[in-house]
Amino acid sequence: MKSHSKVAVIGGGVVGCSVLYHLTKAGWKDVVLIERARLAAGSTWHAAGGFHTLNGDPNVAKLQGYTIGLYNELEKISGQSCGLHRSGGIILADSNDRMDFLKMAHARARYLNLETELLTPSEAKKLFPLMEEKYFVGALYDKVDGNLDPEGTTEAYAKSAKIGGAEIYLNNRVVELKPRPDGSWDVITEQGKIVAEHVVNCGGLWAREVGRMVGIELPVLAMEHMYMVTEDIPEVIAYNKEYGKEVSHALDFKSEVYMRQERGGMVLGTYEKDCRPWSPKTTPWDFGQQLLPDDLDRIAPSLEIAYKHFPCMAKAGIKRVINGPFTFSPDGNPLVGPVQGLKNFWVACAVMAGFSQGGGVGLALSQWMVNGDPGFDVWGMDVARYGEWATRSYTNKKVRENYSRRFSIRFPNEELPAARPQQTTALYDVMRAQGAVMGDSWGLEVPLWFAPKGTEPKDVVSFHRSNDFAHVGNECRLVREGVGVTEIANFAKYEVTGTGAEGFLSRLMTNRMPKTGRLILTPMLNPAGKLIGDFTIAKASDDRFLMWGSSQAQKYHMRWFESQLHQWGQTPPAKGSDPLIRRYDMGLVGLSIAGPKSREVLARLTDEDVSNAAFPFMAHRSMDIGHVPAMINRVTYTGDLGYEIWVAPEYQYRLYREIMAAGKASGIGNFGMRALLSLRLEKNFPTWYRELRPIYGAFEAGLDRFVDLTKADFIGREAAAQEKASGGTLRRVTFEVDAKTADVLGDEPIWHRGRVVGWITSGGYAHYVQKSLAQGYVPKDLAADFGKGAFEIEIIGDNRKATLLTQAPFDPEGKRMRG
Ligand SMILES: Cc1cc2nc3c(=O)[nH]c(=O)nc-3n(C[C@H](O)[C@H](O)[C@H](O)COP(=O)(O)OP(=O)(O)OC[C@H]3O[C@@H](n4cnc5c(N)ncnc54)[C@H](O)[C@@H]3O)c2cc1C
Repeated sequence: MKSHSKVAVIGGGVVGCSVLYHLTKAGWKDVVLIERARLAAGSTWHAAGGFHTLNGDPNVAKLQGYTIGLYNELEKISGQSCGLHRSGGIILADSNDRMDFLKMAHARARYLNLETELLTPSEAKKLFPLMEEKYFVGALYDKVDGNLDPEGTTEAYAKSAKIGGAEIYLNNRVVELKPRPDGSWDVITEQGKIVAEHVVNCGGLWAREVGRMVGIELPVLAMEHMYMVTEDIPEVIAYNKEYGKEVSHALDFKSEVYMRQERGGMVLGTYEKDCRPWSPKTTPWDFGQQLLPDDLDRIAPSLEIAYKHFPCMAKAGIKRVINGPFTFSPDGNPLVGPVQGLKNFWVACAVMAGFSQGGGVGLALSQWMVNGDPGFDVWGMDVARYGEWATRSYTNKKVRENYSRRFSIRFPNEELPAARPQQTTALYDVMRAQGAVMGDSWGLEVPLWFAPKGTEPKDVVSFHRSNDFAHVGNECRLVREGVGVTEIANFAKYEVTGTGAEGFLSRLMTNRMPKTGRLILTPMLNPAGKLIGDFTIAKASDDRFLMWGSSQAQKYHMRWFESQLHQWGQTPPAKGSDPLIRRYDMGLVGLSIAGPKSREVLARLTDEDVSNAAFPFMAHRSMDIGHVPAMINRVTYTGDLGYEIWVAPEYQYRLYREIMAAGKASGIGNFGMRALLSLRLEKNFPTWYRELRPIYGAFEAGLDRFVDLTKADFIGREAAAQEKASGGTLRRVTFEVDAKTADVLGDEPIWHRGRVVGWITSGGYAHYVQKSLAQGYVPKDLAADFGKGAFEIEIIGDNRKATLLTQAPFDPEGKRMRG
């Protein structure tokens, strides 16, 4: 074994071998993989080997498409067969809701360049003869789906990596990881020590244990998973003879089973409701290539429906049952990337579909390590998407919920109940007592909308406008015509202090820093000029700044700040002391009051002058509000006159009561997150992770006025200047949509004169202006085609006319917020 290496990958499952291969492909040859047993000895060896592209997150779906396309390349390089069967796959819908879901997946596939087809039940039967047509309303076909040999494929990755220069050490467990002062690691193995600049945790079933070696608890849990292999089925053999091909894969939402051909019989696996975590606390190191005892009773409810839908399966003998564990994160997507708070420690684990996702995970991680950027939008699988609230018991509940819903559709207005409420503010019960329907925002309960007295505070889940429609509309009108109050505790908040704070922030952000007592809005770019953040920054004093951003990105942003702080200390022009960045998390909470009457409410709460002259738009002040020490920003996301009031959590209850009392004479009422999002739509405001993502540039996103190219230096400046000169390739646009009962949700394709040219990022009904609106990206040359009928947006299989808007439908000149 080598004594030093650039990278030590821990774990030789399909994921570790893919990471190793992709590192060599990206140009790093001095890389090793350390495996405690033999390759594929974890969850990989007993996988059913199926692969498919469908994923709820289009960016993850794209990487799944990459994985599936990779197998021919691997076979060619390694000379090792992956045992590919490209039989195609169908997903069967038994209800209109499920068919709507498939129509949306089909529409999304269009702009991902994935070729799917919608089928009638009889067309589906031609591909999957075992089904009873009468139980289904339709299907989605993807010709690239198939299955492979799990061990052969792992071997193919490993051989290709070795050809690229990597070394693999088997039967050698990593027992300890010790950080070195220079950021590298002592990797202590059963066979001795290796010093590695970077460590990648691909520990699969043992990823938690490897994480614990460096003091972290990764949100990952193994679940038992059963599939059975049948004896030969005459209908299958007859189909093979008649058509000269295998029957396609099939997935049945209703019975929650998947099936594929195995020799003359079938494999049938289930994602049963009555699911079981495996080894919930610790995975034993001596767990070998073992299977778990089967328990067909547990999957009987699924089998009962499956046998009705596919009668010949009921008659087939069962040759063997496989029950094995494999790992999941709370939302079912992988955990990939560098871990915040640690240097040079990377993870690629919780990969529940290693044969659909392993290639994409390896590609993204290797580019991230080698180039400093994954090269894709990998938010859907970034390990930074989970906060401290994702504890072991939280993970346990969420993973079970996710497993049991694997083949359930999730409606856009559906909030999942497991492990909630996890975090609450002092107003949780107060809001609920007033009819608040709560939702989860990065582990925190937030009010979505308020059901008036006599209305049940509950969402009726749907792809169409639902029971909240009229109430959210009333909340929007309350704000636009009077004054409303909403809780904004879920924003991310940071404090940056020190004499070097201003210089540091100025280097990170595209906009010029504000003067004391003022606010700015600013994007943050990576060196390639792509958007990696969007903040409101206040200068409280010479060496103290406050910053607000997206709640979900708190770890993602802290990771970036920390990496830049490290470089800051070593960059010569850095002036002043090293800045200190503190994440407030729930140590700072807030309420926002907004609407034309919000100033009169504020005036009743303080003896300070809050006139427009004394406290203008984009001002920041510290003042007592109803006896409570507060920081106030004269800005709100509603795009109306309004204020964000920030206080320590112990004051929030008092603040709320004071606001409600002072607002009574002005007719104040609550509004929720859904009204807030509707109000921002009619102002054309973008949102982080929908319109603003690391695949777009600031000028493409229309943030021109927040990028100050006269500033001498900021990260991404050169790329931003180039983008400004060339105009980039895309443009963020807003459409008015001729919608009927359903508005866009995001991820719908945009058609232009019969061709798909872009995609929707978000949208919905803008209640005050009474328009269905959608934001999205189109090629820049089309962004000025204001002609009626030039564009269409596909909403649940229906192409709806869409007209580009030249300006925000509400108060385009921003008079209201400045007034
Ligand atoms: C019954 C069943 C059916 C499945 N069907 C499918 C399917 O059809 N399609 C699909 O895509 N996926 C399927 N899967 C899931 C698939 O198996 C996983 O996605 C995949 O195995 C994950 O691979 P991995 O490399 O992350 O983890 P693992 O395979 O668990 O690999 C981790 C490796 O790390 C090693 N390791 C851990 N700790 C250390 C240490 N300290 N030192 C050295 N080595 C260490 C382990 O020995 C192990 O070899 C199925 C799983 C099961 C159980």
